[in-house]
Amino acid sequence: MNFTIDENGYYGHYGGAYIPEILRTNIVALKQQFLALRDDPDFNAAYDRLLRDYVGRPSPLYYAPRLSERYGATIYLKREDLNHTGSHKINNTIGQVLLARHMGKRHILAETGAGQHGVATATVAALMEMQCTVFMGETDIARQQPNVEKMRLLGATVVPVTSGSKTLKDAANEAIRYWIHYPADTHYVIGSVIGPDPYPDMVAHFQSVISSEIRQQLLSEEGVACPHAVIACVGGGSNAAGAFYHFLEEEQVQLIGVEAAGKGVDSGHTAATIATGSAGVIHGSKTLLMQDSDGQIKEPYSISAGLDYPGIGPLHAHLHETGRASFLQATDEEALQAAFLLMRMEGIIPAIESAHALAALEKLSFSNTGPVVVCLSGRGDKDMDAYIRAAPASFKNHQL
Ligand SMILES: *Cc1c(COP(=O)(O)O)cnc(C)c1O
Repeated sequence: MNFTIDENGYYGHYGGAYIPEILRTNIVALKQQFLALRDDPDFNAAYDRLLRDYVGRPSPLYYAPRLSERYGATIYLKREDLNHTGSHKINNTIGQVLLARHMGKRHILAETGAGQHGVATATVAALMEMQCTVFMGETDIARQQPNVEKMRLLGATVVPVTSGSKTLKDAANEAIRYWIHYPADTHYVIGSVIGPDPYPDMVAHFQSVISSEIRQQLLSEEGVACPHAVIACVGGGSNAAGAFYHFLEEEQVQLIGVEAAGKGVDSGHTAATIATGSAGVIHGSKTLLMQDSDGQIKEPYSISAGLDYPGIGPLHAHLHETGRASFLQATDEEALQAAFLLMRMEGIIPAIESAHALAALEKLSFSNTGPVVVCLSGRGDKDMDAYIRAAPASFKNHQL
């Protein structure tokens, strides 16, 4: 099986570049630059240096003793939560803004849901002296206030988006609309493995540092480069793509993505795209998406702003179709329980997105066949309000 894109930007049936003609020149130039620089020693030296000295990589691969005992498996957490700005998003942002600087761009655009991608972009824009505009849905602005304040302090302009469900999908729509007006001097930093070719491949490339580190770290800890399984939450799918990347060809490694079921897969309030979606075009690529029988996009719902998206990257649609990866769903409530468990058992407050990946541990059974790696995509500072609101009821239900 083949898990790399073909010359037209497709993973199997999914991907491509469905874009307005006015953006064609930009997308072609971006693809040429990316392909020229991805193996350029000077570019990679600059990228690697920033990952090391600015982001703090390699992020630890932490053996979680109490979780391991509870689930009867050897569980490691890949600590992307310890990166500068608090999630995996900065791996991609640094790569893309470096690329934009090479292309002579002066202005950076981004969409954001949880605000993690917005903060990472505003951070790197400040570092590299670029103007920065971030589109964010009003619903997300209300539930992720600390990240909004951070972006403003870092010098970014945050533009509230009032269309649709006022969340991530709508923010991406507005960012694309703005880009159409100012294509020449602007680079749009997409924050996940979504969007038109070359974005899915480019973002996966910049996030692949996650699995390349996991291999090295497992080799020195366990004497094997490959785990039994890798588990990651899936919004658009960038932390999952990065965590899966260097294991795609190792067919003995189980790849498990976890989607946000919201109030339940069949509740009508969900963001579980693989479980409820069908093929269509969203934000410039052909992929699976949540749509009604007229092809209208269904409004997604999840407690987690970072997973509240009605599509999924074309790589994951292909991994699902080929059976190379399996996809599970976790509800809001299951994610909250998993987050509280991690707090009490390992002393780590995870992002509510990452807690969906942890919730999968309750649904799987491992017969100690080898290490299991869970990608802890981010930290929970931004989710304190949701945790405080849910804590009393949840603690009552839980014997720790
Ligand atoms: C944005 C975000 C996600 C979801 O995005 P992916 O592209 O699916 O990785 C997951 N976790 C955290 C902490 C995030 O900020």
